[in-house]
Amino acid sequence: MVQEATRLTATELMELEDKYGAHNYHPLPVVLSRGEGVYVWDVEGKRYYDFLSAYSAVNQGHCHPRIIGALQRQAERLTLTSRAFYNDQLGKYEKFITAYFGYDRVLPMNTGVEAVETAMKLCKKWGYKVKGIAQQEAKIIFVAGNFHGRTQAIISASVDPGATKDYGPYLPGIEIIPYNDLGALAEALKDPNVAGFLVEPIQGEAGVFVPDENYLPEAYRLCKAANVLFIADEVQTGIARTGRLLACDYYDIKPDLLILGKALSGGVFPVSAVLADDEIMLTIQPGEHGSTFGGNPLACAVAIEALKIVKDEHLAENAARLGELFRERMRRMMEKTGLVTLVRGKGLLNAIVINDSDDSHTAWDICVQLADNGLLAKPTHGNIIRFAPPLVMTEEQVHECCDIIERVILQG
Ligand code: PLP
Repeated sequence: MVQEATRLTATELMELEDKYGAHNYHPLPVVLSRGEGVYVWDVEGKRYYDFLSAYSAVNQGHCHPRIIGALQRQAERLTLTSRAFYNDQLGKYEKFITAYFGYDRVLPMNTGVEAVETAMKLCKKWGYKVKGIAQQEAKIIFVAGNFHGRTQAIISASVDPGATKDYGPYLPGIEIIPYNDLGALAEALKDPNVAGFLVEPIQGEAGVFVPDENYLPEAYRLCKAANVLFIADEVQTGIARTGRLLACDYYDIKPDLLILGKALSGGVFPVSAVLADDEIMLTIQPGEHGSTFGGNPLACAVAIEALKIVKDEHLAENAARLGELFRERMRRMMEKTGLVTLVRGKGLLNAIVINDSDDSHTAWDICVQLADNGLLAKPTHGNIIRFAPPLVMTEEQVHECCDIIERVILQG
């Protein structure tokens, strides 16, 4: 009962974050305290459908009992040894994940952005050691509109002023070309110092931009012809989110460097990875790269279970089937309103575009109303709302969620 007396209200909890935390996020005014499957509950006990899934980290659903079981069992035995020693989980995990995705080797890290940084370093190392680029000359091509995280190196590849302004000077050796533009890529690849092309198969944070059907396979072909590494950032699109295990699987392309994060742990804690074959991965020597927590036994046990669930529960197939249903319902809704101009996405990574300017409040206001009606989503821009629920959803639940979205949009 003492606990009851000291329990803080939602307003008090929000005030704490506001007063003591850095103001680097702008959350919706909802304070969550519990999650299970496709649902989360706020501190007042109100239940919501989670249509963000922690930016696609919770593909397996909140607090999946098998993942939590693996976490608890391992947490009681050993959590962290650093890589100064071997541990009894890492090798098993490395064997498992490399077989799972079809690569020779894995380099384990923690957050998505660290994995992107790791891929950039591996790419440059390969550029110098294997391709023979002169020291300090290696370049990596990025595309406009990308989002790969927030570190200093990675914002150097961003064109978003919100990410870059007042954070210069930026990292050299980066070239940014337009997205979905094969001509621009072909031109950029003429430079012999290009070591890699780093791309999201679908741009998630930018507002779920799906490129033309031929873009990725042709980009891959151009990279191969130019002896340039094709690097896929599947931190958001990977692990069944788009209806295949990887978004690249739609095009039968195997990236030279594959970057994963988020759902690798089912959202339990940060686990990320870069996968590559020997020619690339073995360019890195002991002491040249690492992380205290990367490859920790807890992460290994959790990630194995999280990946097994994806296959056991057919999450890719579910995402593909329910994604079709969701977009169909959204398109039917679009016909009844001038407010929504576009529905796009793949699998359960979708977005609607609102008929307003990029800097408007409309998408935010709709998300506040959706929350009032029991569904949590977040704008990616002033006029774009991303819908990315956990992949363990049922058809019935998708219909119920579409009813909520339709009610809010049509009444708005
Ligand atoms: N890459 C992509 C495509 C992402 O969407 C994100 C995060 O949203 C990241 C990298 C960065 O991941 P993290 O926030 O775990 O560093």
